[in-house]
Amino acid sequence: MEKTDIKSLELPQLTEEMTKIGEKAFRAKQIFDWLHVKLVDSFEEMTNLSKKLIQTLEERYELVRTNVLDVQISGLDGTRKYLFELPDGNLIESVFMQYKHGNSVCISSQAGCRMGCLFCASTVDGLARSLRPSEMLEQVYRIQKHTGERISNIVVMGSGEPMDNYENLLRFLHLVTAKDGLGISQRSITISTCGIVPGIRRLADEGLGVTLALSLHASNDEKRKKIMPVANKYALQEVFEACRYYFEQTGRRVTFEYSIAEGINDADEDAEELTALLKGKNCHLNLIPINPVKERNFVQPQKKIIENFKNKLEKSGINVTIRREMGRDIDGACGQLRKRYMDQNRK
Ligand code: SAH
Repeated sequence: MEKTDIKSLELPQLTEEMTKIGEKAFRAKQIFDWLHVKLVDSFEEMTNLSKKLIQTLEERYELVRTNVLDVQISGLDGTRKYLFELPDGNLIESVFMQYKHGNSVCISSQAGCRMGCLFCASTVDGLARSLRPSEMLEQVYRIQKHTGERISNIVVMGSGEPMDNYENLLRFLHLVTAKDGLGISQRSITISTCGIVPGIRRLADEGLGVTLALSLHASNDEKRKKIMPVANKYALQEVFEACRYYFEQTGRRVTFEYSIAEGINDADEDAEELTALLKGKNCHLNLIPINPVKERNFVQPQKKIIENFKNKLEKSGINVTIRREMGRDIDGACGQLRKRYMDQNRK
């Protein structure tokens, strides 16, 4: 019998499961609390359950946990990069960042990615598989336990395309914001997408107040197609319409991400075209100095160029910031720690 992944069940589903095995409904609440508040790693630790029930749980349910394979800690700002091993041996990365307004974790939604963006390390070896809700939660829970710090913000900006794993993403969002769980506020969660239009529209209709970040990276379709294969499927106009719909439905201002690379998208004309594109839109633009990836030959523009680019947009009234680079000394773009480990093991 295949065991059910108990950490991926929402409270009503867990309650149903308990009824099925002849237990009272309040047991579900107790177990949910052990899993999602006390963050235990085994059924044995659930000390208010009978020995018999613990045994039944062990027989029928899988309790997903991740292994910390490596942690790199920045000496500059305390940023930590985690390399986790999933139950089936797949590897994923997450990042812990400390800000004045709280602690943030950047999580992966898939092991690898199949979107193929040219500048990104996560996609070099393609998609291994999508993560289950429990495996997304585990990244947050494990880091909270490991650091002893409360996590208040989550960004789904690690490896993978969240809209390519929609059902699991949605369940993860329900679980991590659940009142009976960690209860992270919806507005403290950001989902970053390369622009899968049906996913954006669906998320807009879920009644969740999470923030949407859209990976733009180019100011016209032609340019965008050159660096992001997904642009062949969804034109910028459709993407912008979906973003507007997202704003209308949720009241949440969309963030546009623009990873800036020398000679690719950092010219004056790019800034002008981008201004025209974003003018009058209720949005925020985040300029991300490109993080050079070993397998790719993208180069970060000089600081001066990025500043100029920003100033140009700002003058036209666009709300723009340059992404602060966290953990410079443990640098390497997302997905690179994972890739290095995988390449080592192959050898
Ligand atoms: N699949 C999601 C999440 C990806 S990672 C998405 O596409 O949005 C989050 C952001 O980092 C995306 O905007 C992505 O395009 C960007 N990114 C990926 N690799 C990068 C690199 N080497 N340098 C700068 N930004 C990068």
